[in-house]
Amino acid sequence: MHFSLDFSRGIGYKKNYEMPVSCMRSASDMKSRKRAGPCTAVASRQRQILDRLAAEYSRYLRDLLQHRELMKGSVYHIQTRCGNPTCHCAKPQGARHSATVLSWSEDGKTRIRSLPAADRARVRRLTESYRHLRQSRAALAKLHRQILQGIDRLEQALRLPPPPASGQAKSRT
Ligand SMILES: [Zn+2]
Repeated sequence: MHFSLDFSRGIGYKKNYEMPVSCMRSASDMKSRKRAGPCTAVASRQRQILDRLAAEYSRYLRDLLQHRELMKGSVYHIQTRCGNPTCHCAKPQGARHSATVLSWSEDGKTRIRSLPAADRARVRRLTESYRHLRQSRAALAKLHRQILQGIDRLEQALRLPPPPASGQAKSRT
């Protein structure tokens, strides 16, 4: 199985790994001790899944650790008026100026700052790093949930019923 770091293709597993019914143990099964041992097939499958999830997790994390600096926000172009009342842009039909800006949110507000031409490429790169880090974080959060789910399934598959009650204890109930 190939795990791509291409974020556009979606993250992690789409399939849901359900435990085969034969290994499901209900409370009454546990009580009657129908199943004496762990479900080794399910346990082995869950170990494989966890191995792969861990490898994918470490790839995302390593990728994220490459960043040395970043900047929150997005860079885009806007059409704007400069504020000079004698400028062509002040006329109702006058062409506006195009500007490249950085926009980011801070304390729930959207902030905007125009970027000098000399800064644009650098700021764009920095905001791409920011986006990449946030996407990696989301992917890691999802993988983490899948890992916990895998651990829970492994636990269920490995779990043995408690030992039977002794004859003496049984007679008292
Ligand atoms: Zn103007």
